[in-house]
Amino acid sequence: MFKPRAISTIALFIICSFFLSSCSSTPPQSQAAAKVEPWPIYDDTQAQEHISWCEEKYGQAEKMYAVLESERSDNDAIALLEDVNDWHMLVDEIAGKSGLFAYVHPNPEMRKAAQICEQRIEALAIRSSMSPAIYDHFDKANTSQLGEVDLHYVREILEEFRRSGVNLPKETRDKIQEINKEISKLGQSFIKNISEDSRKIELDSVKQLAGLPDDYIRAHAPDENGKIVLSTDYSDYFPFMNYAHDDEARLAYYKEFRLRGYPANDEILRRLLEKRHELAKILNYPTYAHLTMEDKMIETPERAANFINNIDEIAKARAANDYTILLDRLKKIDPTATKVGDWQKVYIEKLVKKEQFDADPQEIRQYFAYNKVEQGIFDLTENLFGVTIVPWRTEVWHPSVKAFKVLENDNVIGQFYLDMHPRDGKYKHAAHFGMRHGVAGKQLPTAALVCNFPGGNDGGTGLMEHEQVETFLHEFGHLLHGIFGGHQRWLGISGIATERDFVEAPSQMLEEWVWDPSTLKAFAKNANGKVIPDSLIQRMRDSRGFAKGLNVRHQMYYAALSLALYNQDPSNIDFVDAMKTLQARYSPYEYVDDTYFYASFGHLYGYSAVYYTYMWSLVIASDMFSEFEREGLMNRELARRFRDTVLAPGGSKKAATLVEDFLGRPFSFDAFEKMLSADLKKAQ
Ligand SMILES: [Zn+2]
Repeated sequence: MFKPRAISTIALFIICSFFLSSCSSTPPQSQAAAKVEPWPIYDDTQAQEHISWCEEKYGQAEKMYAVLESERSDNDAIALLEDVNDWHMLVDEIAGKSGLFAYVHPNPEMRKAAQICEQRIEALAIRSSMSPAIYDHFDKANTSQLGEVDLHYVREILEEFRRSGVNLPKETRDKIQEINKEISKLGQSFIKNISEDSRKIELDSVKQLAGLPDDYIRAHAPDENGKIVLSTDYSDYFPFMNYAHDDEARLAYYKEFRLRGYPANDEILRRLLEKRHELAKILNYPTYAHLTMEDKMIETPERAANFINNIDEIAKARAANDYTILLDRLKKIDPTATKVGDWQKVYIEKLVKKEQFDADPQEIRQYFAYNKVEQGIFDLTENLFGVTIVPWRTEVWHPSVKAFKVLENDNVIGQFYLDMHPRDGKYKHAAHFGMRHGVAGKQLPTAALVCNFPGGNDGGTGLMEHEQVETFLHEFGHLLHGIFGGHQRWLGISGIATERDFVEAPSQMLEEWVWDPSTLKAFAKNANGKVIPDSLIQRMRDSRGFAKGLNVRHQMYYAALSLALYNQDPSNIDFVDAMKTLQARYSPYEYVDDTYFYASFGHLYGYSAVYYTYMWSLVIASDMFSEFEREGLMNRELARRFRDTVLAPGGSKKAATLVEDFLGRPFSFDAFEKMLSADLKKAQ
């Protein structure tokens, strides 16, 4: 990876990793040399300052790049890596800040300025990934003195150069560069169109909010015309889909939600697919899916397709069983129902969990006020990994944003921002944004979590769904990966710079802790200070597996769609037809007419063909978690081993090796299969 992964959008959108000490990848015990600098955040009227900042930094980056390309006086590999590293640090700084501000800054002018800056630096990084001069320096470098990690890094750099087309004639390389630039621009527009397309629905009567929690009803009072206006922001949309009794309103809202990005993204997606296909053909791959999977654990689209079908088969029996239960429950509301609709599934699922498992989400959420959850996640991190999280006094880009430092033995080992509540123009999903990759002794890993959880103007009392608590911990897992892994010597292999189809695994494993009774009881308290009762936790755990098979199959629909769009010549793809066909093949729920999900499927840019990665990582996460199940969730020694073998090495080894180092064997499907096929436990 010559181009620092920070620059590739994939690393920026970790939307929504483990031990060996025989190499130089072990994190240094002391970070005394790393300075703690406040992140320079401009206020929301200073877009021009950002442009000037970008101009200046970009100018420096171009100069350093010219030096990198020039003749070298020797073929010393370490000196070359040092020079590249310095350049990566500068590029990372520009990309990290712009990449975040383009999606979260409150000022639209600032977002635009940051977006332009991000495009410029990305273009330079793309140019660097095809530089024959730099490739030549690496190819001729004397690597005889390099240790295992450095050698691995150099090999990866050379492979990445070849994959980028460095050996092709100049005209072809110029063309590739143009295509890559175009892809980057299209991708940004694709995401922006989703973020900024905040749609509204209007309800005529407060009766249509029946079923929703009181705080939601209070926060959505009728306007002067007597209308209740709901936006397609997650904090409005998901509770409504979970709880609103009004089936018609739910369907109308679902349709509006699945119109986000449409029609603007229709054409953009088509051009994005075409450009990526064109790139793959020039680089001599049959499709873009082949190109992008070559450096993943899964390696080929054929293996990805097999994986998707395999998982689908494993989930089928469980899904069929749960579907019957959902349909039976729906028939009690509508005796004529013959199938469960996509807009009905979550609502009915919640009803079943409440009635058959006595796990009422509305009873549950009283224990998850935002502030308590945040503190609970900090406490868990401190207890499990032996670090301390303290407030960090620094400038932020919005008053609701908070900043923290992570300390170990009194040394700061990383810093982060939490931007956790919705606002206009802000990125709508939940994601980890790597703002600065750590480099041992030189710079601290710095990241931001960008989420859309309840609260923001209420002093942190907003009540979260348990799923949101899970999401919080998941995203926090990426942040910890970036911090614990952010102490490599080289930025290119620092933090979460691991294979794309592995990067979700550590976070997915951490999700398990929000189902652990002692973890929950440490922070889940309601407004009166009452701790979440054991019996409720047990009921939540009993209900957890219900509908899991259905969800797994629906996820395989998304994975199949992401693969299909990139695994063929896109010129004749009919998006709606592709959705309909694949949804019918995989998902238990039918396609709903007049919806255009692909237009808001943001992963189609950042993840392209590899949406399967969530499930692939989950298989690995389940296997890794089985160690904690056996040894104890709060077993610090095991947590240390996990951190040292999986997180700390960052991208200094192949992911399969990291997992094997932790497990003492290659990973298997067993734990995942066991989890899916577990018997339905009914409370009654
Ligand atoms: Zn994730």
